[in-house]
Amino acid sequence: MDATSHHVDNKARFSQPSQPHRAAFGPDFPFGFDQWISDPSGTGAIPVERHGSEVAIIGAGISGMVAAYELMKIGLRPVIYEAGRIGGRLRSEPFSASPNVVAELGGMRFPVSGTALFHYIDLCDLETVPFPNPLTEAAGSTVVELGGEAHYAQTLQDLPPLFQEVAQAWNDSLENAANLSKLQTAMANRDAAAVKQIWDPLVAAWDDRTFYDFVATVKPFADLSFRHREVFGQVGFGTGGWDSDFPNSMLEILRVVAAGFDDDQRLIIEGAEQLPRRLWQHEPDRLAHWPDGTSIASLHAGAPRPGVAKIARVDDGKIAISDRWGETANFEAVLVTTQSWLLTTGMDVEEDLFSQDVWMALDRTSYMQSSKTFVMVDRPFWNDIDPETGQNVMSMTLTDRNTRGTYLIDNGPDKPAVILLSYAWASDAMKVLTMDAGQRAELSIETLERIYPKVNIRSHIVGEPISVSWEADPHFLGAFKGALPGHYRYNRRMHSHFMQSEFPDKQRGIFLAGDDVSWTPGWAEGAVHTSLNAVWGLMNHFGGSTSPTNPGPGDVYETIGPIHLGG
Ligand SMILES: Cc1cc2nc3c(=O)[nH]c(=O)nc-3n(C[C@H](O)[C@H](O)[C@H](O)COP(=O)(O)OP(=O)(O)OC[C@H]3O[C@@H](n4cnc5c(N)ncnc54)[C@H](O)[C@@H]3O)c2cc1C
Repeated sequence: MDATSHHVDNKARFSQPSQPHRAAFGPDFPFGFDQWISDPSGTGAIPVERHGSEVAIIGAGISGMVAAYELMKIGLRPVIYEAGRIGGRLRSEPFSASPNVVAELGGMRFPVSGTALFHYIDLCDLETVPFPNPLTEAAGSTVVELGGEAHYAQTLQDLPPLFQEVAQAWNDSLENAANLSKLQTAMANRDAAAVKQIWDPLVAAWDDRTFYDFVATVKPFADLSFRHREVFGQVGFGTGGWDSDFPNSMLEILRVVAAGFDDDQRLIIEGAEQLPRRLWQHEPDRLAHWPDGTSIASLHAGAPRPGVAKIARVDDGKIAISDRWGETANFEAVLVTTQSWLLTTGMDVEEDLFSQDVWMALDRTSYMQSSKTFVMVDRPFWNDIDPETGQNVMSMTLTDRNTRGTYLIDNGPDKPAVILLSYAWASDAMKVLTMDAGQRAELSIETLERIYPKVNIRSHIVGEPISVSWEADPHFLGAFKGALPGHYRYNRRMHSHFMQSEFPDKQRGIFLAGDDVSWTPGWAEGAVHTSLNAVWGLMNHFGGSTSPTNPGPGDVYETIGPIHLGG
C-alpha cells in the first residue's frame, strides 16, 4: 500500500449506488447518530438564559471531545479535565527519529460502517486509506504461519482448503444462529423495528454464553474438528486471531459482525490522535451563544485542566470537581468518560452520586489487556520480491507464536515505514507485561526471523522501538471492555444512565460516556454513540430539547432502546 498515492475522499466511500450502506445502526439501540448530528436543524437548543453554563468533562479522549464539541455548539461551556494527554486511547506516538512517523498505540483501523465517527473524521478533513488487514488488497500479501508451517496468500482462496472450510462454517453458523444477513440488511436499511425483531431475541439467547460456546455448539461449526476451531481462533477472519475473545460474551462478537466492524477498515494517515486534536481546535460554522471563531481550545485558553482527584455533591446541589493539585470548581453537570474502574480506584467519588445498581455495573466491567510493539524501518522493504519465490520477502503475518499479528504500515516509497511487530490481547499481552520496549522488540524479531529466515529485519530498523501495555497505565487499567457472559444487564444500566428523569436528585447531573458504556467496546464508533447520548442527556438537564424534525437518542430511547432482561 502506498499511503501517499492512494488518498481517497472519505465521502466517496458512501457514493456507490447499488446497495444500502453498512452502518452501525444498533443493533441494541438502532438510532441514526450520524443523521442526528449532521441534520441542518442541529441537535437541539437550550434556553437562552442557560447559555454559557459550564459542564465539566472528565477525559479528553474521543468521547469527551465529541461531547465538548456538540455541547459548545448549543451554547454550553465545556470544561475539560485530562490526566494524561488529549486523545486518550486514540494515541499516535511519534518515533523519536522522525516525528512525522507514528505508532498507533490505541485505535488504528476504523470501519467505514462507523458513520458517526466518520462524520467527525470528515469534518476534520482527515484523509484515510484502507488498513492493511490480513488477506486484503491493502496488505498485498499475508503469511499465515501455524504449527511451524507458513502459507503465503493474497486472498483466502490461496490458503489450503481447511481455512476455507473454517471461513464457510463461520458464515453459515452466523446465519443459522443469528440470522446475520437479514440483520445486516435491516441495519443497512435503518429499519429499527426489523433490527429489534431479529436482535432482541438474540440478547436473551446469547447473553449467558461465550464466544467459545458458539464455535463449539453451533452447526455447522460444531461439526468440524477441534483443529478447525483452533485455526479459527488463531487466524479468525477480517481483523485477525479471535481466540483472545473466546471467554467473552457471544453478544460482543455478534455486534461486531452485525455492524460490519470487522470489514472495510481504514487508517487515518496523519494518525488517529489527530481526530480529537483537530476537534479541540475546530471552529464550528454554526454556534449558539459563542462568537464566530470559538473552539474548544479557545474556551480553555489552549490547554485542558489537570486530572480529577475528587467528585462530590455540594450543598447547593452542584457537583464539585477537585483536580489533583487541589483546585476545586463547582458544576451543575459533569460528564465522566474515563474507564469505569477509575471511578473506584483513580478518583475519590462520593458514593451517593450513583445508585448501588450502577456502581455494581461500573465495577463489574471486565477489561481486555492489549500490548503493541512497533519499530520504524528505513523503507517498506517487504515490497522487495524474493527472486527465488517471486513473492514479497515479508508479509502481514498471522501466527500462533507470541507475536500473533504483525502489521506492515507503508507510508510511501520514499518514507520510513512502520512495523507493528506484535499486536496481542489478553493472555498473549500479559506475557510481555514486565518487559520493556527493547525486550519486546527483540522477542518479536526473533520470532519473525524464524518465519522469515532469509530477511534481515534488523538491518532496516531506525531508532528506538515503541511499546504499550494499556493495563499498566494508571489512567486506563486495561485496553477496552470485553463483556463477560451475564453482563448485558450491567451494560444496559450504564448505557441507559443518560435517561435521568426518574433518578432521585442526588444522582442527577453526573453523566457517563465512553468505551466502557458502549455496546461495542474496542471500537471508537460505539464510544461516540455514548457520548452523543450524554449530549442529549445534558441538553435535557439544562432544560433544552431537540427540534421536532430531528429527534435525538433520548426522544426515542423508550421505544427502540436496548431491551430489558428481567431479574
Ligand atoms: C489497543 C487498542 C486498540 C484499539 N483499536 C481500535 C481500532 O482499531 N478501531 C477502533 O475504532 N477503536 C479501537 N480501539 C478503541 C478506541 O481506541 C476507544 O473506543 C476510544 O479511543 C475510547 O475513547 P474514550 O473517550 O471513550 O476513552 P479514552 O480515550 O480512554 O478517554 C478517557 C480519558 O480520560 C483520561 N483520564 C483518566 N483518568 C482521569 C482523571 N482522573 N481525570 C481526568 N482525566 C482522566 C484518560 O487519560 C483518557 O484520556 C482500540 C483501543 C485500544 C486500547
